[in-house]
Amino acid sequence: MTRFEVLILGSSSATPMYGRHPTAQLVNIDEQLHLIDCGEGTQMRLTRFGIKLNKIKTVFISHLHGDHYLGLMGLLSSMHLMGRKKELNVYGPPGLREIMELQFYHSQTAIRYPLHFHTTSMEGEQLLMENERLTVHSFPLDHRIPCTGFRLAEKQKLPRLNAEEVARLGVPKSFYKMLKAGYDYMAPDGSVHAWQSLTVPAPVPRTYAFCSDTVDSGNYLESLAGLDLLYHEATFLDDMRERAIETFHTTALQAGQIAGRVGAKKLLIGHYSARYRDLAPLLHEARSVFPATELAIEGQWYPVGSDTIDKPSKSED
Ligand SMILES: [Zn+2]
Ligand SMILES: [Zn+2]
Repeated sequence: MTRFEVLILGSSSATPMYGRHPTAQLVNIDEQLHLIDCGEGTQMRLTRFGIKLNKIKTVFISHLHGDHYLGLMGLLSSMHLMGRKKELNVYGPPGLREIMELQFYHSQTAIRYPLHFHTTSMEGEQLLMENERLTVHSFPLDHRIPCTGFRLAEKQKLPRLNAEEVARLGVPKSFYKMLKAGYDYMAPDGSVHAWQSLTVPAPVPRTYAFCSDTVDSGNYLESLAGLDLLYHEATFLDDMRERAIETFHTTALQAGQIAGRVGAKKLLIGHYSARYRDLAPLLHEARSVFPATELAIEGQWYPVGSDTIDKPSKSED
């Protein structure tokens, strides 16, 4: 199974508190690195966890509240100073490009690597990127300012050859591609062998979605079908529901209910309000309606589509 994991770089909401940092996550899909949100200090957090900045291929920014993008200028500048040559694609809401370019202009910085900004749509789901390994869609959330979530889905891989059977029957190499594409093999003696018996099914593709920040409006649930792992903000406990609605945020109880409603396999909660030093009550509340919930803890990797969420596969903290 190829690697598909999420590293939490920041788990705090608006202000850094109790050693927690504003939102940022790194997704590793088969050693391809994608950054989701870039709160203040993200580049230091990446370095702290042994991630080379220039290995990041893509950056996705959910919205323009400072706790989700104030680290971007620093990150883009450092990539420039480190001599990055590879292109970088940044996806974010309207206005992001303008803000960044204004800063480059007034600091007279000419970024030397190809830097491309792409604007996310607030109208509906949008396919942002697609390569041989995955697709990434954005979808609008319900927040005080334009904001999107992101869904990263592995692509269905072709089946692998059943080496033993293929060798036993002496299937010519030139037919391997056909087998993987679902064509049966006819041996020289006229016997037909089903492609299924000559191949091993590829693993079921896995899907991860990121939802921060949003009020529990139900408007984006369709974009959350078939998830192996859902990250959802859970800024408040449910006794603060009024406050959550006023500020377009979600409670831990609501995050658990959403995970249940969309049939997610696992839930990861984060974006904790500065009012909570102890996070156990948030976890407890989400688990009361959705037992397969975990707290997003900075420095921990969380596998997508694995049964081992209780023991993240790698912790570098
Ligand atoms: Zn936020
Ligand atoms: Zn926000």
